[in-house]
Amino acid sequence: MTLILSGHSYKYELESVLKLFIPATRFSFVYDGEDYSHITGDRIIAEKREDTDGVVFCVSCFIKEKSETETQELDVKNIPADGGEFILSKLLFTVLRRITVLTPEWGVITGVRPVKRVNEMLDFGYTESEIKSRLMSDFLVSEHKADIAIKTANGQRSILSSVKDNSFSLYISIPFCPTRCSYCSFVSQSVDKALNQVDDYVNNLLSEIDYTAKIVKRLGLLLDTVYIGGGTPTVLSAVKLRSVMTKISECFDTSHIREFTVEAGRADTITKDKLIAIKECGANRISINPQTLNDSVLKAIGRKHTAKDFYSSFYLARQEGFDVINTDLIAGLPTDTPESFRGTVDGILKLAPENITVHTLSVKRASNINLNSQLDVLRNPAGEMVEYATKTLSENGYSPYYLYRQKNMVGNLENIGWEKGGTQSLYNIFIMEESQTVIALGAGASTKLVDKKDRRIERVFNYKYAVDYNRNFDLMLKKKDEIEGFYLNA
Ligand code: SF4
Repeated sequence: MTLILSGHSYKYELESVLKLFIPATRFSFVYDGEDYSHITGDRIIAEKREDTDGVVFCVSCFIKEKSETETQELDVKNIPADGGEFILSKLLFTVLRRITVLTPEWGVITGVRPVKRVNEMLDFGYTESEIKSRLMSDFLVSEHKADIAIKTANGQRSILSSVKDNSFSLYISIPFCPTRCSYCSFVSQSVDKALNQVDDYVNNLLSEIDYTAKIVKRLGLLLDTVYIGGGTPTVLSAVKLRSVMTKISECFDTSHIREFTVEAGRADTITKDKLIAIKECGANRISINPQTLNDSVLKAIGRKHTAKDFYSSFYLARQEGFDVINTDLIAGLPTDTPESFRGTVDGILKLAPENITVHTLSVKRASNINLNSQLDVLRNPAGEMVEYATKTLSENGYSPYYLYRQKNMVGNLENIGWEKGGTQSLYNIFIMEESQTVIALGAGASTKLVDKKDRRIERVFNYKYAVDYNRNFDLMLKKKDEIEGFYLNA
């Protein structure tokens, strides 16, 4: 498949739209000014040309004996600020919809934060019905997805307005797992392979906490939420978990903290002594993630625990006094079926966790699933699964509180965090809506500095892998000084 760009250079956006309909395919490109008269196979010509009356945008698709063309002409004075990139994206979406008979429900919204767009429109004073009609007519979003995006944004409004300008969230990365799940593309390494890195890693992390806390103190920033994620943080021993969490409370002023989450993650790492350590060190939210309650699917994705192990961990966490528990599920896992997924959702509901996050499988290039081509992304039943989860969770009193999309999600769907009884995770909302600075420590972590007043966002990246983090630690620590630079230049 060749994408031919003529009269413009909107490669990124058009390729993103193309991937909605034709995933997991490598495309060839012909750039503006290059001759494409010899290209005869499956191809798309996206053209922008000026004539005497204005500018003509035209997309023609020739795919497997079928062809479709859409054209739009605009007077020069009506050319939008982006030069027409969005117009060409919509024309491309329209012709591909006709040729493939597929209708991606998020329309031409290819970015990861559709709810942020809704929040911006609410800030501008649009009514809900105006937002809905804009999402549906301008962005070609389905009515169902427009409704859930608006509902999610509405649920976030009071939380977003509670964010103080000088507040921040702290993210701590523990990039180790007991084994690697087949769908994983994170930087996480199995502890078997990285065992020799763990001690140095924790020691370095303690130094990074110390160093960063001094910067934060000089800047007068207030710690609002803490999230220890991974990887699987509970792969660390109770002693090491305690040392990391104690270091946080020793170095930072914790008197303003509204939420402290530890992502326990996998049942095969959760023990009573670790839960006690987590609780005693101040966490008030924990995540225990089965992904599915079907043992054969758990085996297929390379997780070395069973549904029974998950239940035991969940009950143990309740027994130890955790009253806000999140459980992550994934729709579209290899070998899973709609019936089995319904069983998972129903089984989780019986436990009544405060938060349930329903992810859709995202197939990244670096994952084992993709490498082994175990998945047919177009015939995946994830859409049916997500629909069941949305309907059933809504009927059981859960509300969507954060929503995001990732590249290469099967069915071009989304991830939704659901909550009951006002227990939404503040951190998850802040990170997705980019409404607060998140200072991130550890390997694979990226700090996002947010200045809402001047609408500035800057990122500071740590080394991706634990081995590089350990090896170049002193150098990396110096990068933390960029936090100070960002605030002092405000
Ligand atoms: S638990 Fe999460 S981070 Fe760890 S291997 Fe599985 S998907 Fe990756």
